[in-house]
Amino acid sequence: MCANHTEITPNPSHFEDSEEANQAPAHRDIAWNDYKDLIKGMRFFDPHIHMVSRTTDDYQAMNQAGIVALIEPAFWVGQPRTGLSTFKDYYSSLVGWERFRSSQFGIKHYCTMGLNSREANNEPLAEQVMEILPLYIYKEGVVGVGEIGFDDQTPAEEKYYRLQLELAKEAKLPVQIHTPHRDKKKGTERSMAIALEHGIDPSWVIVDHNNEETVKSVLDQGFWAAFTIYPFTKMGNERMVKVVEQYGPERIMINSAADWGISDPLAIPKTAALMKMRGISDETIRLVTYQNAIDAFGKSGQIDVTDFESGYAVDQTEKFHGNSILRGGQQPAPVKDFLVIN
Ligand SMILES: [Zn+2]
Repeated sequence: MCANHTEITPNPSHFEDSEEANQAPAHRDIAWNDYKDLIKGMRFFDPHIHMVSRTTDDYQAMNQAGIVALIEPAFWVGQPRTGLSTFKDYYSSLVGWERFRSSQFGIKHYCTMGLNSREANNEPLAEQVMEILPLYIYKEGVVGVGEIGFDDQTPAEEKYYRLQLELAKEAKLPVQIHTPHRDKKKGTERSMAIALEHGIDPSWVIVDHNNEETVKSVLDQGFWAAFTIYPFTKMGNERMVKVVEQYGPERIMINSAADWGISDPLAIPKTAALMKMRGISDETIRLVTYQNAIDAFGKSGQIDVTDFESGYAVDQTEKFHGNSILRGGQQPAPVKDFLVIN
């Protein structure tokens, strides 16, 4: 017999256990429609979101909320991969089909390439993945090596993290670090120490999934500090506003890390609206929700803001390898016109 499950299942990829998990912050009472006017005309860049797991509705909503570009880091997909082919197909989709799909909704798509920490623990497979990674990191629109780093902080994770730091150095690409959700403080410090040990300039490293306990040290050591806005957990956007109030906008960026678990692809525009409500300046909001991500990942030489800063042209009749996002009989829609469905 199956009992009714009313509990919220944590997202095992990006979720952080927290006693505060079920405390709804006050701003949840404010409907999105009530505050989307606050961010009218703003542009956003989400430097961490896993679109392969998201729907066309998400793409539409993101476009309407002002997200003009995003970065999709290579990650695990929930189901452990059993062979090299699925890695190849996944990496190919990040520079191929998914980028095309994003373009069809007016959003410029970039990605980072890497072997994620969790699957680094499958060493026979990890060895093979390391052999093919150089075939992907030099492709157009690849703006970094990521997301790499620690999960359980095992020796295998460290081994493949170090190898990929060397790869990033060789390719002159920024590094996007996934910090562990368990033992975060220790894992974050260890990730940074190892990057420095490999002679990597901290201004080329984006340390992700920060919280109040890690941010000071990350900034003090010259790294970029990225924050993931997680629904129902520690780093909600009320907390994010306080971080920005305390530390200012320099080298701080926010992202949604939305994936196949409970997450919110509109985390950035919503947080921008909340910042606006709290009296944070437009320039600070612009830096943490748009410009800083461009400056950090732009070191790859792969980001040309003229591609998206004044809107991204959409032609939904385009095809990718003969495949389009339109289904039988559908007419291509202008992206801004989603209210009426016919
Ligand atoms: Zn991620």
